[in-house]
Amino acid sequence: MSITTRFAPSPTGYLHVGGARTALFSWLYARKHGGKFILRIEDTDLERSTQESVNAILEGMSWLGLDYDAGPFYQTQHFDRYKEIIQQLLAQGDAYYCYCSKDELEQLRADQMANKQKPRYNGKCRDSGALDPSKESVIRFKNPVDGVVTIVDLVKGDIVVANKELDDLIIARGDGTPTYNLTVVVDDMDMRVTHVIRGDDHINNTPRQMNILKALGAVVPEYAHLPMILGADGARLSKRHGAVSVMQFRDEGYLPEALLNYLVRLGWSHGDQEIFTIDEMVEYFELDDVNVSASTFNMEKLLWLNHQYIMNSDPVHVARHLSWHMGQLGIDPAEGPNLVDLVNAQRERSKTLVEMAASSVYFYKDFDAYDDKAVKKNFTAGSDEVLARLHDEFVNVSEWTGEVAHQIITDLAEVLGLNMGKVAQPLRVAVCGSGVSPAIDITLSLLGQEKTLRRIEKAINYIRSLK
Ligand code: GLU
Repeated sequence: MSITTRFAPSPTGYLHVGGARTALFSWLYARKHGGKFILRIEDTDLERSTQESVNAILEGMSWLGLDYDAGPFYQTQHFDRYKEIIQQLLAQGDAYYCYCSKDELEQLRADQMANKQKPRYNGKCRDSGALDPSKESVIRFKNPVDGVVTIVDLVKGDIVVANKELDDLIIARGDGTPTYNLTVVVDDMDMRVTHVIRGDDHINNTPRQMNILKALGAVVPEYAHLPMILGADGARLSKRHGAVSVMQFRDEGYLPEALLNYLVRLGWSHGDQEIFTIDEMVEYFELDDVNVSASTFNMEKLLWLNHQYIMNSDPVHVARHLSWHMGQLGIDPAEGPNLVDLVNAQRERSKTLVEMAASSVYFYKDFDAYDDKAVKKNFTAGSDEVLARLHDEFVNVSEWTGEVAHQIITDLAEVLGLNMGKVAQPLRVAVCGSGVSPAIDITLSLLGQEKTLRRIEKAINYIRSLK
């Protein structure tokens, strides 16, 4: 059997971590089995759906590299088809017009609550017959009254629901628009979805959807309901736990692979392996290994993973992502060292690309001020002389490399009878503005001769102005 999965977000907000994990698991399952992965935008709730959210979802999918084989499909473009199916269900006696008023339904609900019964529609209009256009109506699905529905859930195991627990749900509203459960069923059927992988907040819908599919004579797909993602406080992960939007992770300097790796481990495991290439995820992913219980989102662990990815990924790849962050800081990478060299120099010390970009600005742009502490510690009496001596040597170098500059520093330290730090540290502050940078030879090689000389001159003047 060829496999088809889908990711079916409602465009009512950004692509959040939970949605991204659902998308990833559906994508992995399709990729693992050489199947098809579909993106379907469930935008029938016209009041809550926005184009901005659609864009955010598409942007998130693309940033994560979750490519789809078909779509994006938009449910708002399928209204005719939904109407056709509703008519079919009416014609075959599996749906009916319901004329119960809001007041009536509220009264029913209140009575049921008072009698400690589960609120449900009582089926009053089940045999209402042909449409009476003089009255307002909705259309309900005629759920079977007897028997059970068994969800053979690939994550949670068998879930048995008695039909008498399910009431006749509304499939078309008063204005004729179809409801969520109907549209999902029609599209899953038409798109020949074989595996519905989604959050377990939909588990209550599943037996209803299965009944509609059966009424339509459609093949019922397999289901896999993924457990929730919780914040550290045990509540469902939400905005107040910090970054939950996928694009916010990009903004905060995460690599997409790090986030994917984090998400795949959120509720799934393969032995005790922590780090997976995308190919390994595809190879090892099994729905059987998805946890049954909820998992907790752990920012620290994600940060750790991000650092691993920054340190160990191809520097060309990291540089491509870093370039976006440099742009955010208004930096033109052409004004300084090659970004790949920069990544190699900075990756050990950078847990995020935001950190890497922020601590690399001085390679591209002159800084306005020196770090106070570094000045106090390193721009001490005589440091202007040390810098002047370095300048004298540096200016004569015909082929500027980190090794040559380093040799000059060690030689000067020896001549002056100073330890290396007494020469290298004032130099570092002079060229970087602070006492923190990669090794001095690497720093100088990245900066280049011209910037180095100019900044030494500036620092000498500054130190002299302090006297
Ligand atoms: N549109 C639904 C949501 O965003 C998902 C529907 C489904 O996966 O069946 O929650």
